[in-house]
Amino acid sequence: MKDQIPYKIFLEESELPKAWYNVRADMKNKPAPILNPATLQPVTVEDISPVFCEELAKQELDNDTKFVPIPQEILDFYKMNRPSPLVRAYYLEKMLGTPAHIYYKFEGNNTSGSHKLNSAIAQAYYAKKQGLKGVTTETGAGQWGTALSMACAYFDLDCKVYMVKVSYEQKPFRREVMRTYGASITPSPSDTTNIGRKMLEEFPGTDGSLGCAISEAVEAAVSTPGYRYVLGSVLSQVLLHQSIIGLETKTALDKYGIKPDIIIGCAGGGSNLGGLMAPFVGEKLRGESDVRILAVEPKSCPSLTRGKYLYDFCDTGRVCPMAKMYTLGHSFMPSANHAGGLRYHGMSTIISQLYEDGYLEAISVEQTSVFEAAQMFARTEGILPAPESSHAIRAAIDEALKCKESGEAKNIVFGLTGTGYYDLTAYKKYNDGEMTDYIPSDEEIANSLAKLPKVE
Ligand SMILES: *Cc1c(COP(=O)(O)O)cnc(C)c1O
Repeated sequence: MKDQIPYKIFLEESELPKAWYNVRADMKNKPAPILNPATLQPVTVEDISPVFCEELAKQELDNDTKFVPIPQEILDFYKMNRPSPLVRAYYLEKMLGTPAHIYYKFEGNNTSGSHKLNSAIAQAYYAKKQGLKGVTTETGAGQWGTALSMACAYFDLDCKVYMVKVSYEQKPFRREVMRTYGASITPSPSDTTNIGRKMLEEFPGTDGSLGCAISEAVEAAVSTPGYRYVLGSVLSQVLLHQSIIGLETKTALDKYGIKPDIIIGCAGGGSNLGGLMAPFVGEKLRGESDVRILAVEPKSCPSLTRGKYLYDFCDTGRVCPMAKMYTLGHSFMPSANHAGGLRYHGMSTIISQLYEDGYLEAISVEQTSVFEAAQMFARTEGILPAPESSHAIRAAIDEALKCKESGEAKNIVFGLTGTGYYDLTAYKKYNDGEMTDYIPSDEEIANSLAKLPKVE
């Protein structure tokens, strides 16, 4: 069998999935409902429609529809870059000397350089269909802003991006890509919103944070007629759109009769992992498989491994609904020396519930070991990986090394979510031997958890 598996498993255009898979339909314990912070009651579609596009609001709250047909206009766009290849990492395996078979699903083959385009195009489509003028959003490292700019250009929508100030300054080239696609970019905190002005007054000279940029983008959306807010991770609608990654992966594996033993994804807000694992965790939920699923997060922002499963605010300004999730607290600020993305304080409600119920495992890794894995991968497989994706590479390599000791030829599948061409400042730090690790103290985490709202 081994010799029959090509280096890249490409699917035909006709094998592109025609429907997204909603894993919530197969969950016995549904994710806890998101709450209106004013009433502490579960939100309704009407509650969130001033913020989100209507169809997306419905998808957000839909725990029951198992397959959601993908509109033809979105399929047409997907065809530009999809189906994406599932690659057998023969050269990495050889370098490691492992009997394991390592596969990666490569989502970096588009200009935005990440999987985020899968949901960006869907969200832009529903905004256009609703007759909106434009959308607002935040971006941290910049991949989501870039993906959304591309999607908005395709559907001729205006796109306003609040970019965390430190990235705005460190990644000027990201900005130019977004502007080329027609988006307008504002560094956050900014003086264009109430919450931004408040942050600037309270913390002059602040680098900004994702939580604050979210608050600004939401405020801008609800105060500008014809605009709605869109978000690139964490939300259940985003995991739904990202299920295309897992559905394609499953089709490719099935085509060659490969049964995965372990599925690995890096976890920031949970969207790529949620998408990659969706059909596999579905089988687990239905009792049809015992595949291991592994979430990999940074030691500097360890929401699953050191956070608490409680209701929290999703943003610093507390304008968004509250979600029950594994969280480090909405006031948690990852250390400034943390380079590798994945810096959101909370985790998708779907992933949180599945983790709570034991359907997935989680580990955290240090950033120097992440960049070491990135370097090994670049030198063997040729792709320059995004630092976020490299968390999954680290775990895949470690699992493959365990197989080397035990002599087991396990099938390891991981998500290679994107490329790292805009992360060269971080690579430089690593190459110069100047990268350090930061692990928050128990006290630091306890302090930020103490600020959680009292809900239960
Ligand atoms: C945003 C991003 C991630 C992390 O986000 P998730 O929602 O956890 O998937 C991972 N990799 C890349 C390349 C990203 O852009």
